[in-house]
Amino acid sequence: TCGICVEKCPFDAIEIINLPTELQEDPVHRYGENSFALYGLPVPESGAVTGILGPNGIGKTTAVRALAGEMVPNLGDYGREATWDAVLDRYRGTELQNYIERVRREDVTIARKPQYVDQIPKQFDGVTSDLLNSTDERGKLDEYVDRLGIAPVVDQPLDTLSGGELQRVALAATLSRDRDFYFLDEISPYLDIGQRVTAARLIRELAEEEDKAVLAVEHDLAILDLLADTLHIAYGEPGAYGVVTDPKSVRNGINEYLKGYLSNENMRIRPDEIEFHEHAPRETAKSKPLIDYPDLSKSYGDGEFSLDVEGGTIYKSEVLGIVGPNGIGKSTLAKMFAGALEPDEGELNFTLDIAYKPQYIEIDQPMRVDTFLSSITDDFGTSYWKTEVANPLQLGRIMERNLDDLSGGERQRVAIAATLSEDADLFVLDEPSAHLDVEQRVQATTAIRRYAENHDATVMVIDHDIYMIDLLADRLMVFDGEPSVEGHAGTPQEMRAGMNDFLSDLDITFRRDERTQRPRINKPGSQLDSKQKKQGEYYYSP
Ligand code: ADP
Ligand code: ADP
Repeated sequence: TCGICVEKCPFDAIEIINLPTELQEDPVHRYGENSFALYGLPVPESGAVTGILGPNGIGKTTAVRALAGEMVPNLGDYGREATWDAVLDRYRGTELQNYIERVRREDVTIARKPQYVDQIPKQFDGVTSDLLNSTDERGKLDEYVDRLGIAPVVDQPLDTLSGGELQRVALAATLSRDRDFYFLDEISPYLDIGQRVTAARLIRELAEEEDKAVLAVEHDLAILDLLADTLHIAYGEPGAYGVVTDPKSVRNGINEYLKGYLSNENMRIRPDEIEFHEHAPRETAKSKPLIDYPDLSKSYGDGEFSLDVEGGTIYKSEVLGIVGPNGIGKSTLAKMFAGALEPDEGELNFTLDIAYKPQYIEIDQPMRVDTFLSSITDDFGTSYWKTEVANPLQLGRIMERNLDDLSGGERQRVAIAATLSEDADLFVLDEPSAHLDVEQRVQATTAIRRYAENHDATVMVIDHDIYMIDLLADRLMVFDGEPSVEGHAGTPQEMRAGMNDFLSDLDITFRRDERTQRPRINKPGSQLDSKQKKQGEYYYSP
């Protein structure tokens, strides 16, 4: 036995070298014999945003249900009825004492934004404004609608909204409530960088100006850095046990997480460090061109939206990052390359087999994952396919599950695997980071890069997670313009020039963390921000 489970480890999963002190105590909650156990709780604090960083399935929802008073944690004794008095005894003299006293008096109200916004239209019928108006408890709704840019969709039925629109509607609805405690489970999926930064600012204002307690789970590290005042790391074995650490400073927390080693806890959570490079990757020798394409244009309807594409060359075995705001024409370009859409001007006279992973994944069939994947490739099940695709995407445990009971992150990993398993010349992945935790993003990144190198394959990746783009892309294609009105796609460029182009448009600069070289968003108007803007260096060090 490992000391955590009642008898022998039922998960066959854990090899614990030095049992962290948290695990020598009873858990906060255990669902049942040999069921998931949660150790440690995050500490909500009025006037502050508390972040949680860690994988899915590690007990974040369980912790929030306890903090919301929806469930009395049983302190590991799942056989007996749990009481708040017992919980209070356990936390007397800790930072959580006051909070738990309030929960016991039923004096804490909560608003929460769910992780999977795609599910919202299944729970609410009707138009967006019906949902929003019912939440306007602080008289702030109009301001949120305006700043989040959702005015154009308030009269639309919810089930016609895109993921990015639903995400902003869900945020406006949650922040408009007048509650003590706000729980936001991932704010960034489907939002572009500008929208992510706006969302982070609105959440900070809510905490600071209204003295509210906010707890936020976020996997986009640049945004988490901007958003949170303190940070809990969550680690463990998803599905088996989860440990929520004591609060750390956000900077240290993220750095320790990237290093894979938690100092206070003396705990290694990953064998390798996740490293960032301060300087742009050197220009590499180009391999053979895959396509040369001319200037193109395309408009929809009678010119409601028009896209201009600057011609360029895409090389074999490169990963081309594609960045730009939502609604600027990125998918339109992908569809033209795929031959699904004719350009109005300019000719694409190549025929490429394109494998395309859309941003919103709808694989809702009652079919098993292994059946589905084996229908795509004959390589399914070979040791080669396992090493290159299945293992880095952690598909082992979900192979026998049905597609329609996968979580968002699981579905994302299956969709990436399915796309890479197709026999194609060009692989286009639209927002592969959505709903993946940081660990999974890094693994997916590695899988995609390796795949491109080993197969002479060209991969275009559209993503808004700047760390993922930095780790993944060899070159960048930058879109700008006015979303929903007109878009312009630049020719593919080197990383440094591309990042400068992209970030100058957003007016955001990044500095480097001294210890890890991790990029961090500068405060607007700070000395570094002004200096870098003057130098024209928005991302990499000169
Ligand atoms: P997260 O929010 O971090 O994804 P959750 O708190 O939802 O994690 O779940 C943590 C683990 O607890 C999961 O493995 C889940 O299957 C398990 N779990 C959640 N609710 C129950 C329950 N009512 N009974 C048994 N196990 C549960
Ligand atoms: P992105 O991928 O950058 O988010 P898209 O290429 O999907 O952008 O869309 C760009 C603009 O074109 C958006 O305003 C979108 O509403 C509009 N659009 C996309 N497809 C169509 C279509 N088939 N008919 C009319 N408008 C469309």
